[in-house]
Amino acid sequence: MPTPRNAHGRFETRAIHAGQRPDPANGAVMTPVYLTSTYAQDAPGRPRGGYEYSRTSNPTRTALEENLAALESGDWGLCFASGLAATNAFLDTLAPGDHVVAGNDLYGGTYRLFTKVFEKYGVKFSFVDTTDVAAIEAALTEATRWVYLESPSNPLLRLSDISAAAEVAHARGARVVVDNTFASPYLQRPLELGADLVLHSLSKYLGGHSDLIGGALIGRGEELRDPLAFHQNAVGGCLAPLDSFLVLRGTKTLAIRMERHSANAMALAEHLATQELVQRVYYPGLPDHPQHELAKRQMHGFGGMVSFELEGGVAAGETFASATRIFTLAESLGGVESLIETPPTMTHASIPAEVRHAAGLADGLVRLSVGIEHVDDLAADLDQALTAVRSSARAGARV
Ligand SMILES: *Cc1c(COP(=O)(O)O)cnc(C)c1O
Repeated sequence: MPTPRNAHGRFETRAIHAGQRPDPANGAVMTPVYLTSTYAQDAPGRPRGGYEYSRTSNPTRTALEENLAALESGDWGLCFASGLAATNAFLDTLAPGDHVVAGNDLYGGTYRLFTKVFEKYGVKFSFVDTTDVAAIEAALTEATRWVYLESPSNPLLRLSDISAAAEVAHARGARVVVDNTFASPYLQRPLELGADLVLHSLSKYLGGHSDLIGGALIGRGEELRDPLAFHQNAVGGCLAPLDSFLVLRGTKTLAIRMERHSANAMALAEHLATQELVQRVYYPGLPDHPQHELAKRQMHGFGGMVSFELEGGVAAGETFASATRIFTLAESLGGVESLIETPPTMTHASIPAEVRHAAGLADGLVRLSVGIEHVDDLAADLDQALTAVRSSARAGARV
């Protein structure tokens, strides 16, 4: 099994060097984008450099896979064409009758893949409140193979206790996979906390520039890697060389980007909490967040995602999100630029209103992906959007 090359030093150092080295052929410092489907062989069945065909492996992708392994404290990584393709590869290793205990506020696409695709193949899912480890334990059965966590979750930024979940799952012979997309490995490393597998959408913080779609699985040991690598090759949803290069470029600055995302988000969360029109702010860094203590223990910073509830329901949320000038109205997250969206009418619109309300998603909910622009400009942008909500409410009252 390949182990990450140049995986030395602390996080920031590994981010820049792991999996990479100057090209032995010509000294190119940056890993080339190997745009090739196939590789010359010295004799039949004797590939020259260990590569045969780029669905199976490609040197640019290998560099990224080793880089991500080093960042998540794993010993292998596998990259896919999207976050959902990574989730799909993980699910491909299950058999009919196998059971998964999953969080009840997962990324919508993950929920759709579970319920609309894999339930049809006989894989069983139980959706529970994974912020409560007793609820996870109660849902485990003889058939449970995996506990599937997303922490922090979307859009309410709830946390699951990864070590506690790993303890109860392992005691019953199940494994734990964590979707670490919202935190990134700079802020949270599930394998160090006892999880068995980490999943990422590379389209978010790891890529970091909103310019690609990709996914990854990272873990330890061949027993887990071999079936996943088999499915990566057998199914073929692998990450392309150019996208692999772009993510490698992204991870080099992950540490400083996450520091700034977190600092900006903290400042804006505190600022929003003092505003009259804002009824509630969801941010793990605020002392009144229900899992603030867990966040301090489990994460090395609180991340760039902030959600809040505006007084005035859907109309207020939509007025606000349409009034910002620096925050771009768009789905997705994790890029250097700030984005804003209204979960009830955008990312979570497919969830029926009653179900959404029962899950705690208020109509006036707004979600920010706080970028790394100057925080004063971002705060001023939110202030002028609040003014727009106030004047639109006054205009509405006059009619
Ligand atoms: C975006 C996202 C995914 C899916 O990733 P894609 O790259 O869009 O396929 C999975 N989980 C979380 C938490 C995400 O934000």
